[in-house]
Amino acid sequence: MAVREGAWDCPYCGATRNRGPEKFCGGCGSPRGPEVKFYLPEDARVVDEAGELEKARSGPDWTCGFCSGDNKGWNGFCTGCGSARDAGAARKVVQHLGQAPSSAEEAARAAGPGQPETPEVGSPAEAPKKPRNKACGLCLAGCGVLLVLLALLAGFLSCTRSVQLDVVGAHWERLISIQKEVTVREQAWADQLPSGARELSRSQEVRSHRQVQIGSETRTRTVQREVQDGTERVKVGSRDLGNGYFEDVYEDRPTYRTVQEEESWQEPVYRQEPVYATRITYDIERWKEVRQARASGEDTRPEWPELRLEPGEREGPRTEKYVLKLRSPDGKTMEHEIQDAATFQAFQVGRPCPARLNRLGVITELRP
Ligand SMILES: [Zn+2]
Ligand SMILES: [Zn+2]
Repeated sequence: MAVREGAWDCPYCGATRNRGPEKFCGGCGSPRGPEVKFYLPEDARVVDEAGELEKARSGPDWTCGFCSGDNKGWNGFCTGCGSARDAGAARKVVQHLGQAPSSAEEAARAAGPGQPETPEVGSPAEAPKKPRNKACGLCLAGCGVLLVLLALLAGFLSCTRSVQLDVVGAHWERLISIQKEVTVREQAWADQLPSGARELSRSQEVRSHRQVQIGSETRTRTVQREVQDGTERVKVGSRDLGNGYFEDVYEDRPTYRTVQEEESWQEPVYRQEPVYATRITYDIERWKEVRQARASGEDTRPEWPELRLEPGEREGPRTEKYVLKLRSPDGKTMEHEIQDAATFQAFQVGRPCPARLNRLGVITELRP
């Protein structure tokens, strides 16, 4: 444990770095009062001579209770008045963890009122403000430009103009599906058989699979582990010996090394096992479309086709479609589908109707 020579500053003449063990100021000769704080300069001298080391470790200096004389640790009686040390007060031995004070102000702070043993806790340095990320800024600008373009496009498309369109033609078509019950052959699982099914045959078939564990196998893998393989001495601070000297304080810390180990485990092994169920083949009557009744025309007066059902037939779903053929003032023709019959019937071939077109020429509104 290294011992170094500390220093003290004179409160009377301001002289700095008086040698720690020196009892009088090198500048003005004033005695080193009991209020003087020791500190450890960065380039403090290491004490290696045996006699001086012994002095350094002989305990803190003490102040005489009668004449206030400054005495060394090994003095049992005051060198000034001869009083016993029992009546005197020893300087404090202070342990500084972390950085030892390297100036008089730091020493005073470290040995501040009430908490002489408080280790100096380094306050986290305030992080410098990060410059704003340039790439992110560019990205934001790109997004902004894209949004503006999208807005412009939306504005371009939503901007419409009104025109007169001529109805130059029309087309409509109406269909009625005609169904008949026919016998069809189907298959189903026994628990899903529809009512009315006439069973023809049954068989056992694979319906699903399930996982069955049939054993396990041993697998291995290499894992890394931290193992303590010793300790190291780490300097954690210094101790003010109260006599102008400082001693380094060490701590034993564990050291680790990484070892690789084989680790094994049991991995289950599965087999896919088929699950059988009863499959039934059956005949059943189903309504199927057999033909359509159809009507169409080239005007705006649609009609449903006449429905003639034969025995065993029924009416199925109906479908309808209405299309107008239009011509714009610049001679372009276009087709436009109308969704309901009532609207379609309000148009007349040969009559103009007001409309709105967007920039792409698509009809956005059409009135009879
Ligand atoms: Zn002085
Ligand atoms: Zn004395």
